[in-house]
Amino acid sequence: MHLESPIKICFSITITDICNLNCSYCHFYNRKKYINRNTVLEKEIFDIYLKFMSFFYNKNNDYDVQIRFSGGEPLCVKEKLFDFSNAVFNEIGIKPYVLTNGVELNADVINNAVKNNISRFVVSVENPFSVFRGSTHPQMILEKIKQLSTTSLPINLGVCLIDNENFDKISDIASYFYNEVYELPSFLEVTFQDYVTPTDNQLNSLTNELEKIISKYQNINVAFDFFDYTVPELNHSNGNIYIIELDLNNSREISYDESTYEAFFNERLNSNYPFINCEEKDCFLFETCNRFKWVWKDKKKDFCRFKKAVYLAYYNYYYKEKI
Ligand code: SF4
Repeated sequence: MHLESPIKICFSITITDICNLNCSYCHFYNRKKYINRNTVLEKEIFDIYLKFMSFFYNKNNDYDVQIRFSGGEPLCVKEKLFDFSNAVFNEIGIKPYVLTNGVELNADVINNAVKNNISRFVVSVENPFSVFRGSTHPQMILEKIKQLSTTSLPINLGVCLIDNENFDKISDIASYFYNEVYELPSFLEVTFQDYVTPTDNQLNSLTNELEKIISKYQNINVAFDFFDYTVPELNHSNGNIYIIELDLNNSREISYDESTYEAFFNERLNSNYPFINCEEKDCFLFETCNRFKWVWKDKKKDFCRFKKAVYLAYYNYYYKEKI
């Protein structure tokens, strides 16, 4: 993974800590137990974020900028969501997208979103064979996508967390989603508080299952997004996207002072995506391992095992194709 030019950045703004679900794995609440779950981003902080994002958007085309709203659940703030989206569009000229659990999506929300400069919704979904406690079954989300998604306001599948125990079912999970809405979710590794080191057998299953998915969908133009914390360079057809979190409390104390923005950005980039500094020059992935997502910081050995398991799936597929 190399920092390509222009650098792709996604500014991810947490606009609320309110949520209408209570998912057992949610790292947001696990890390922020002090939050009351009734806060909406203050205008004063949002205005600073607008200036900060605008700085990078307008800066000599060095940055390819996306903006997204997350939470909590962004749809819980009702019309305020649209105040934020209109302000982003009017100030920067970008239509933000919204990460949501999809519970509140309905025809009115979609109509308002079109009118108020939202570009799309991205809905997190559960593994249909193992729905986490406190969450919602993906079938309900799929029905909404089928009813409400349009070309003027797409609703796309977002993250689907896959734990080690379900590595051997990923191709079935992929089929479940594809058969309903003709796209695949972003399969994401479990990290944070629920992380468990996978066994060799589980990683072998992962390789075999991913190879099945690649083989089935590669030639029908379906986008793959596998384990973005580990192999981002294999996703997003034109390279990695670096996510810069802008939180509810402006805990990093960004100010209106533009002269501080580059330093802040570099600090965030290097802390969220530190350099690996690997010395294993004989590893077949040496050229791809430049930075890594911070969640692997204390688990580098597992990072390498996981990464090799995913690459092996691609390798096996292409090797078999050739012979
Ligand atoms: S996969 Fe691990 S061992 Fe191989 S190059 Fe990357 S960091 Fe180094």
